[in-house]
Amino acid sequence: MVNTPHSNETFRALLDGARALGLTLSPEELDRFARFQDVLLDWNQRMNLTAITAPTDVQVKHFLDSLTVLEGLPGPVRNGEQSARLLDVGAGAGFPGIPLAIVRPNLQVVLLEATQKKCRFLEHVVTALNLSNVQVVCGRAEEIAHRPDQRAAYDVVVARALANLATLAELCLPFARLGGEVIAPKKLGIEAEVASAAKAINTLGGKLLPPLIVRLPILDEERQLIRIAKVRQTPATYPRRAGVPAKSPL
Ligand code: SAH
Repeated sequence: MVNTPHSNETFRALLDGARALGLTLSPEELDRFARFQDVLLDWNQRMNLTAITAPTDVQVKHFLDSLTVLEGLPGPVRNGEQSARLLDVGAGAGFPGIPLAIVRPNLQVVLLEATQKKCRFLEHVVTALNLSNVQVVCGRAEEIAHRPDQRAAYDVVVARALANLATLAELCLPFARLGGEVIAPKKLGIEAEVASAAKAINTLGGKLLPPLIVRLPILDEERQLIRIAKVRQTPATYPRRAGVPAKSPL
């Protein structure tokens, strides 16, 4: 990989925040984050990828926020002990999938994104960072989830800022294998959203687990990881056709 010139001071927030999450970033990992930040801010001048543009904000609100998801991953996946499969639905500019792939090189990560332009960006990032454990799939969850090679194919399915929980469950649960999990980072105080997703989660073969409270370092803000266990196969009719899960949540 080509080295990005950077000093550790420029990445103080990322380094300190990662340490607070129990991660000591290696020089190679820091290099990948630095290059990701460069590419993100460069492409963001030409296309709308993120409203967050100050480097420290990128490190905290995108990189560290993505890394808080690690705490919610099932043990073997979290520790990178085995080659597990993780899907990021609606990856956008690559969050949380790319930061997780950087710190867990044994994890097989697939980024699913509906917008072609964002897919081109994600493919560029994968090449620029030489991330051999990441694959980009361009398409809508409503269609890709019915492909036999994708359905029930993942140990963990993550989604940040994709949709309300009922819609998110319909877009994500079909991808999880039996015994797998869906993990969605959300802000606190969404009891009503969770309650109104209960029926959808049950219909889709999921079982709500207790949320995990996590702390975003540097900003010192609490968030929660909503966790859904896949306890039964999802009926073949789900997800419904494109747009329906968002327009008419179960
Ligand atoms: N996860 C990223 C992006 C959130 S924005 C982050 O947290 O920063 C939501 C993203 O999901 C957008 O990029 C949008 O194109 C994508 N998306 C929305 N609905 C989708 C669907 N049904 N299938 C696949 N991607 C979808």
